Amino acid sequence: DSSDPQPPMLTLALSKGRIFADTVPLLAAAGIEVAADADSSRKLIIPTGDPGLRLIIVRATDVPTYVQYGAADFGVAGSDVLDEHLAQAGDHALYQPIDLGIGRCRMSVAARVGFDYEQAIRRGSRLRIATKFTAIAREHFARKGVHAELVKLYGSMELAPLVGLADAIVDLVSTGSTLRANQLVEVEQIGEVSSRLIVNQASMKTRAEALEPLLRRLAAAVAQRDREAKS
Ligand code: ATP
Ligand code: MG
Repeated sequence: DSSDPQPPMLTLALSKGRIFADTVPLLAAAGIEVAADADSSRKLIIPTGDPGLRLIIVRATDVPTYVQYGAADFGVAGSDVLDEHLAQAGDHALYQPIDLGIGRCRMSVAARVGFDYEQAIRRGSRLRIATKFTAIAREHFARKGVHAELVKLYGSMELAPLVGLADAIVDLVSTGSTLRANQLVEVEQIGEVSSRLIVNQASMKTRAEALEPLLRRLAAAVAQRDREAKS
């Protein structure tokens, strides 16, 4: 259509904090500048140095929703958040073409120091588990054949075993210092977590001309960063 010569503007959904901080250098390596004060500003729509790309700032757990519905063409989400989302929406709700290798941590089971988790499992005890990640936890304990009663929380999971709300928690662990500070220990690792680039299915087709070069540059930036980390 000659009346619409402009390519569509692409929208990338990010959450504030570590994902934003770790994504900005990858964007820069892909040739896209983001203003330094963008993270601290209250603006929820942030322009970039590329007139064809803008950022929107949403809650980490909302990134897959914005992308699935096409309010954002693509986004960056932790594999924890993504797995929880896809458990509801179905595995094919989103494309996930690139593991960005940022936001690395692990999903683990943790319990109070002195709680004999292995013995509780061997005895077939019913465990009460507090977590924000109910789908991941449900699948993990079902696979082990453990009777787990899940208690959904939205934060401060570490508190739950200390006040008798749960026997154990399923949560993200990186250094383990938050667990240690609350007399908890990691008793089982469920899996590795890192952030993924996720893409709306319709955008991948209808906006391929704008999206594909950007995805290629981001993938190249990730590969370059990993090569540099090795040498
Ligand atoms: P929301 O409250 O909006 O659901 P949040 O407050 O948990 O999200 P962050 O703490 O910024 O948001 O976590 C965002 C993502 O960063 C997580 O989904 C996870 O993939 C990753 N992440 C969380 N904790 C760690 C950690 N300790 N080390 C590395 N990455 C982490
Ligand atoms: Mg958090």
